Amino acid sequence: MTRVRPSDNQRDRLKETNAFRCCVCKRRSVGFHLHHIDGDNANTVDANLAVLCVEDHDRHHRSGEYAPRHTELKAEEILQFKTDWESFVAEAQRPEPKVLATLSSYGTQELIHSLQLVLQWPDERIAMKQSYHLLDGDLDRLTDEVVADLISIGPNVKMAMIDAPLPVEHCPCCGTGYSRTLKPAVVARLTDPDWATKSSASIYINPAEPRVTILFSLRDQSLLTGSLHLCQGQFLHYHCEGIDDRVPVTDRPSVRTQVTKIVKNVLREWQPAWVFIGTGDPDLPTLLPDLNLPELWEQARRGLKPRKSKSQSRC
Ligand SMILES: [Zn+2]
Ligand SMILES: [Zn+2]
Ligand SMILES: [Zn+2]
Repeated sequence: MTRVRPSDNQRDRLKETNAFRCCVCKRRSVGFHLHHIDGDNANTVDANLAVLCVEDHDRHHRSGEYAPRHTELKAEEILQFKTDWESFVAEAQRPEPKVLATLSSYGTQELIHSLQLVLQWPDERIAMKQSYHLLDGDLDRLTDEVVADLISIGPNVKMAMIDAPLPVEHCPCCGTGYSRTLKPAVVARLTDPDWATKSSASIYINPAEPRVTILFSLRDQSLLTGSLHLCQGQFLHYHCEGIDDRVPVTDRPSVRTQVTKIVKNVLREWQPAWVFIGTGDPDLPTLLPDLNLPELWEQARRGLKPRKSKSQSRC
């Protein structure tokens, strides 16, 4: 069997029928691979090609190596994801689509914590859920991002807004959602009487790459680590238990100002009693009085800095 590469036309067509998203996780603006579902590289027809992000592609191909009896993402599952998502996008792009969107918010009126967009079929089957954390402190920009996402899937899909924000404990990523249990760190923050006096945030500024990590602890016990890094020079990518958000970087203000704003918002939400900032040797960091981020954040944004080995592409 000779490998047949998809043509540029076919590549573009498939990305379009998937609304420029991975058919499994529905993320967009990430690198995509076209994966041969049946494993036959010669069978390069649309029906056999799935648009996958790099991570989900890995989850399929790597599964056997690391856990021989456990397949993380099976061929049948990929086929199902592809079929479901492509039919949803096709419906969403009709002039009068039958599919719907709802937008819920979490937090309080004064401090919105996150928004969640849910796309569904009329029979309530959910096609996509996406959370947006208000990391950069600008609700209008976040709402614009949600609307742009929805338009990219189907410009005529109607969106219902759920007006009153739900308590942060219900945030689908950080709290119970509708079915999950509260994450221990959220429980501690909400209920532990020592939070106001014995909690701390230790911020570590990586001196060699555009990355900051924040460790929250209570009474010397580590509870939660969040990490923020500049991803592909275009996004500020924040991960924390359950949260995985990419905030697009804008040309102004400086990248470091944008990072500082996100870090401040995270701190504002968690309200630790103590904040420590360090850099240099991660095991014995030099303490800093302020969040003094190195110039390399701007260089990485402008692409002046060559990609740093593996660590920088790690997400
Ligand atoms: Zn994916
Ligand atoms: Zn593949
Ligand atoms: Zn990333």
